[in-house]
Amino acid sequence: MTRMIDGKSIAEDIYKELKEEVDRLGDKPGLAVVLVGDDPASLVYVRNKERACKRLNLSYRLVRFPSSVSREELKSSIEELNMDKSINGIIVQLPVPEHLDSFEIISSVDPLKDVDGLHPDNMGRLVSGRPRLIPCTPLGIVELIKREGIDVRGKRAVIVGRSNLVGKPLIHLLLSLDATVTVCHSKTTDLKRETSEGDILVVAVGKPRFITKDMVKDGAVVIDVGINRVENKLVGDVDFEGVASITSLITPVPGGVGPMTVAMLMKNLITAYNIQSNKK
Ligand code: NDP
Repeated sequence: MTRMIDGKSIAEDIYKELKEEVDRLGDKPGLAVVLVGDDPASLVYVRNKERACKRLNLSYRLVRFPSSVSREELKSSIEELNMDKSINGIIVQLPVPEHLDSFEIISSVDPLKDVDGLHPDNMGRLVSGRPRLIPCTPLGIVELIKREGIDVRGKRAVIVGRSNLVGKPLIHLLLSLDATVTVCHSKTTDLKRETSEGDILVVAVGKPRFITKDMVKDGAVVIDVGINRVENKLVGDVDFEGVASITSLITPVPGGVGPMTVAMLMKNLITAYNIQSNKK
């Protein structure tokens, strides 16, 4: 019998825990979001982050630039935020326009304020088994796995997608939980053979209903990261109706991984605040 993983309700529990933690701080950690251009999806994500900050009584600043902004101007604004004591976390909303090198921009954020966990220092620490700030979506996936009591030790975890944002950091998080990890991508020769082996299957491809029932092991746990808009409806990368009939646990879209990502961003902001306070 399949069961749905209710990411929304788990995220609610996390907000309650974080709210108590923020109340105890007696201070107001601050998030700055740097947004370049006016990509509609980015605007939605940015608004969700603002709402989450309000909920937890955290301060929030949006720093906007037109898509024509120069790398110098953008980097000097990030430098100001790095120096600003009232800002504990900085996010550069991705994607940035083509003329900007996202690696260079992300690398200019103070690694102790890098609440997206994408700075090479933070990525390197994760790979070295000494994580500090961890990318929010993979962190949210692992939190779902833990809170659902899913035992991944010795199990075969298959990840489809190898982006810096999701797939690559998730490899290391699942390895640290003692899973045997396989990563697939667009050049994988027999995707179905790989995905069918997964006791845990995580899909982050960006193609609507890409993973079908015939590609999934009976009784698997399926985590769908995809967010795709199809005929004005949000759908995941997994063909939910078909696949849910054979899984033990599955995340819906919306209401699965998405709410966890924003909750983990808030968690990272508080972690960043604590790291910075201990350094003072
Ligand atoms: P990217 O486009 O950066 O990466 C997609 C990955 O999928 C790549 O590694 C690519 O392979 C792989 N891929 C593409 N086509 C195939 C194929 N035919 N077979 C196997 N693998 C394939 O996407 P992201 O990781 O940023 O995002 C993935 C999805 O997750 C999107 O829908 C995005 O909106 C969603 N997302 C959701 C979040 C949430 O909070 N729920 C947060 C972040 C993302 P290759 O490397 O070879 O090109």
